[in-house]
Amino acid sequence: MKLLNRRETLALSTAAVSGVFLAAPALAVGRAKVVIVGGGFGGASAARTLRQVDPDIDVTLITEAAKFTTCPFSNLVIAGERPLETITFGYSALAAQGIEVIIGLASGIEPAARLVRMQDGSTVAYDRLVVSPGIDLKYDAVPGYSKDLETLMPHAWKAGQQTVLLRDQLTAMPQGGTVLISVPDNPYRCPPGPYERASLMAYYLSRNNPTAKIIIIDGKDTFSKQSLFTKAWDTLYPNMISFVPFASNGGILNVDGAQMSIVTAFESFRGDVINFIPPQKAPQFLLEAGLAGDAEWCGIDQATFESSFVPGVHVLGDAAIVGDMPKSGFSAAVQGAVCAHVLAALLRDQSPNRGTLLNTCYSFVSPTYGISIAGVYRVTEEGRLKSVEGAGGTSVADAPPEARAAEADHARSWYDNLTTHLFG
Ligand SMILES: Cc1cc2nc3c(=O)[nH]c(=O)nc-3n(C[C@H](O)[C@H](O)[C@H](O)COP(=O)(O)OP(=O)(O)OC[C@H]3O[C@@H](n4cnc5c(N)ncnc54)[C@H](O)[C@@H]3O)c2cc1C
Repeated sequence: MKLLNRRETLALSTAAVSGVFLAAPALAVGRAKVVIVGGGFGGASAARTLRQVDPDIDVTLITEAAKFTTCPFSNLVIAGERPLETITFGYSALAAQGIEVIIGLASGIEPAARLVRMQDGSTVAYDRLVVSPGIDLKYDAVPGYSKDLETLMPHAWKAGQQTVLLRDQLTAMPQGGTVLISVPDNPYRCPPGPYERASLMAYYLSRNNPTAKIIIIDGKDTFSKQSLFTKAWDTLYPNMISFVPFASNGGILNVDGAQMSIVTAFESFRGDVINFIPPQKAPQFLLEAGLAGDAEWCGIDQATFESSFVPGVHVLGDAAIVGDMPKSGFSAAVQGAVCAHVLAALLRDQSPNRGTLLNTCYSFVSPTYGISIAGVYRVTEEGRLKSVEGAGGTSVADAPPEARAAEADHARSWYDNLTTHLFG
């Protein structure tokens, strides 16, 4: 596998995010209206890019809350390395650009009438609809677990209050205590996220609670960037983190809030802090609109992001299966940029160009130790968004501390650039 050099990576990400795929001639008829549901990575990117690409298209962004807290960098908040406010953003820059921002919950889609139904009973009309609402957690997927347990055993897989709760539980844990992290099987939001979390919790504990232990109870046998993570754990946090793969736990049979335990087929684990990350699916209102067929994730045309089931609706980000792309914020933002160009073309009755997409997922093993995985994706003749062979790859296995520190700096600049691009 070849690592992209920095110039190639920058060229691709600049093309994908700032949008140089298409020029936009005049709209065929009147002003079209694109409505976007979800003001996170995919939705904010689609809204801003569309505004930039074609000022003749009206853009409305519907999002649940006036502030958005990013999951990227939330593990640094849990480790006490960043205040929550530094990963929380509003929409005033989008509104100032002429994007209509509606704060409220979309509760349904009426494709025949081309309407989004809002929880407050109102409706919003669209010519084309983009949805990027992230994930729903499957609270009922594991016996004994329910939404009621999310305070006792925070998932922190949607950032905000849950992030603060998990941070507070970690800092209040007795000396020598045990943290359990339960990780679902694929697919789920942010494949390397749980292992970055274990790393940054270990960073905090090694300084404040050095005899504490972290046990990862996994729903699979291998994980993203595994050899890089485990090698770093052996060096930075020897004997603190144990990984129990599916083959060694046999799957979770029961979660017990009173006992603070997770019972698997082969062993029972007790935790002082339990970070229970439930399995996930596309949000329920998308499933009810038929966007996933009989499945749990939305199916799309991987060149245009248009639903395989409901014409006129485009799905981005975590809610969809987008070929080989992982469920990451960077993926969602790049998809949003490409989808904006697709929409501008479709609304002018033109054939959209096919973009080249890029994703990089950085993970912190400590605040000064970064690792990454990158991929480049293109639509094949068969219409599949596939990884380009020989492009992308992971950080090298053996690198001096300065290289890991540089990757941690790259991660910070990636975050600052992307969040400024989306919300600044
Ligand atoms: C701990 C953790 C760490 C992560 N780290 C990284 C990282 O380092 N890099 C990276 O690239 N990715 C990372 N991710 C993954 C990233 O957060 C997601 O992949 C990304 O947020 C997906 O973007 P999205 O647009 O699909 O959804 P989101 O970004 O979650 O946006 C969805 C938005 O829609 C809103 N919404 C939901 N339902 C409705 C509704 N019915 N009506 C109106 N609004 C609604 C939500 O409130 C939210 O504002 C991480 C995830 C986790 C959990």
